[in-house]
Amino acid sequence: MPCEICADTGWKSIEVDGVSRVTRCDCWHQRSFESLLKGARIPRRYLHCELSNFDDHTDSQRRALKLATRLVDQFPVVDKGLLFWGENGVGKTHLAVALMKEAIRRKGARAVFYETRELLKLVRDTYNNQAEATELDVLRPVLEADLLVLDDLGREKKSEWVEETLGLVVNTRYSERRTTVVTTNLQDVDNTDPSSVALQLGLRIRSRLLEMCEWLEIDSHDTREVGLNPTHDEIANWQQTSPASPKNRPRGGLPAKSSGQARAQLKNRESDGRADLRWPGGRAGS
Ligand SMILES: [Zn+2]
Repeated sequence: MPCEICADTGWKSIEVDGVSRVTRCDCWHQRSFESLLKGARIPRRYLHCELSNFDDHTDSQRRALKLATRLVDQFPVVDKGLLFWGENGVGKTHLAVALMKEAIRRKGARAVFYETRELLKLVRDTYNNQAEATELDVLRPVLEADLLVLDDLGREKKSEWVEETLGLVVNTRYSERRTTVVTTNLQDVDNTDPSSVALQLGLRIRSRLLEMCEWLEIDSHDTREVGLNPTHDEIANWQQTSPASPKNRPRGGLPAKSSGQARAQLKNRESDGRADLRWPGGRAGS
């Protein structure tokens, strides 16, 4: 059925200060949004995510929402992207998807979402002899998107190839000054911790990400375990009893959050060039 306003020309007349002008019809904006949204590759389970339906129960969640909203307001003249780190279920991916949709809707952003392991798998699949797509076919939209969401960074198995490939993505986007939003379950703690950004991704990627993204730890109870609108008692109970609660997770003797000391230690290692990315002896996971 053709558009009642513009008969599918995509233009409509408006009056500005008594002068008749033409402007894009609403149906054109809607089609454009749908087409950009389709290109953004947002997984179905995150399609409902909006800034307006983000549950902000904690200070860090409210801060994260503020940063996400600010990024969209400023887009495309954005100084730094965002990196959300923290436990599962605190809303990192929700916010990343929501700000991406909002940037598409309001700014016409060419945006693309990749779960990091999925991206690496697609790149790896191109090495297969039968593959029609080349490595660059897969990577080009990732390198060139106005806005990239790299979801769940650090979940992939560590290897030299992985570090090189992610390094290419991060470095290219950095030098082209394109906006990147990252979510990760890794912790920004001392680089002897297997779940640290420094150990899992390497110090070079870490320092690049520090330059190109504003980092924010989001913490909360896990909404997937306690439900969307828990009472204070339910949250307290979850914190005490759930193995997923930050309280109940073994941390190998390290503080739960990066202390000043851990940061200083990291800095020293970087500056004296003794960055050691290997698994330290005697720890699990090597
Ligand atoms: Zn129309």
